[in-house]
Amino acid sequence: MVKAMTLRDVGSALLERGCTILSDKGPHTKWGCPCGAHTAPVPRHGIVSPGVVRSVGKRMACLPEGWLQ
Ligand SMILES: [Zn+2]
Repeated sequence: MVKAMTLRDVGSALLERGCTILSDKGPHTKWGCPCGAHTAPVPRHGIVSPGVVRSVGKRMACLPEGWLQ
């Protein structure tokens, strides 16, 4: 079961896996994965909803399953 996460925890997990910020404009931060083929938008809310956590986890398809939670 995917749980909501704080934006800080999501950012830390992305950085730990070698992801980088591609764009920080608008309401979302666009993150890119280490392989360069995958991106995920993350809304800049203090709490990231379970649906978005699941989406980010899946979009970074080159990372091992369950990398975010
Ligand atoms: Zn990738």
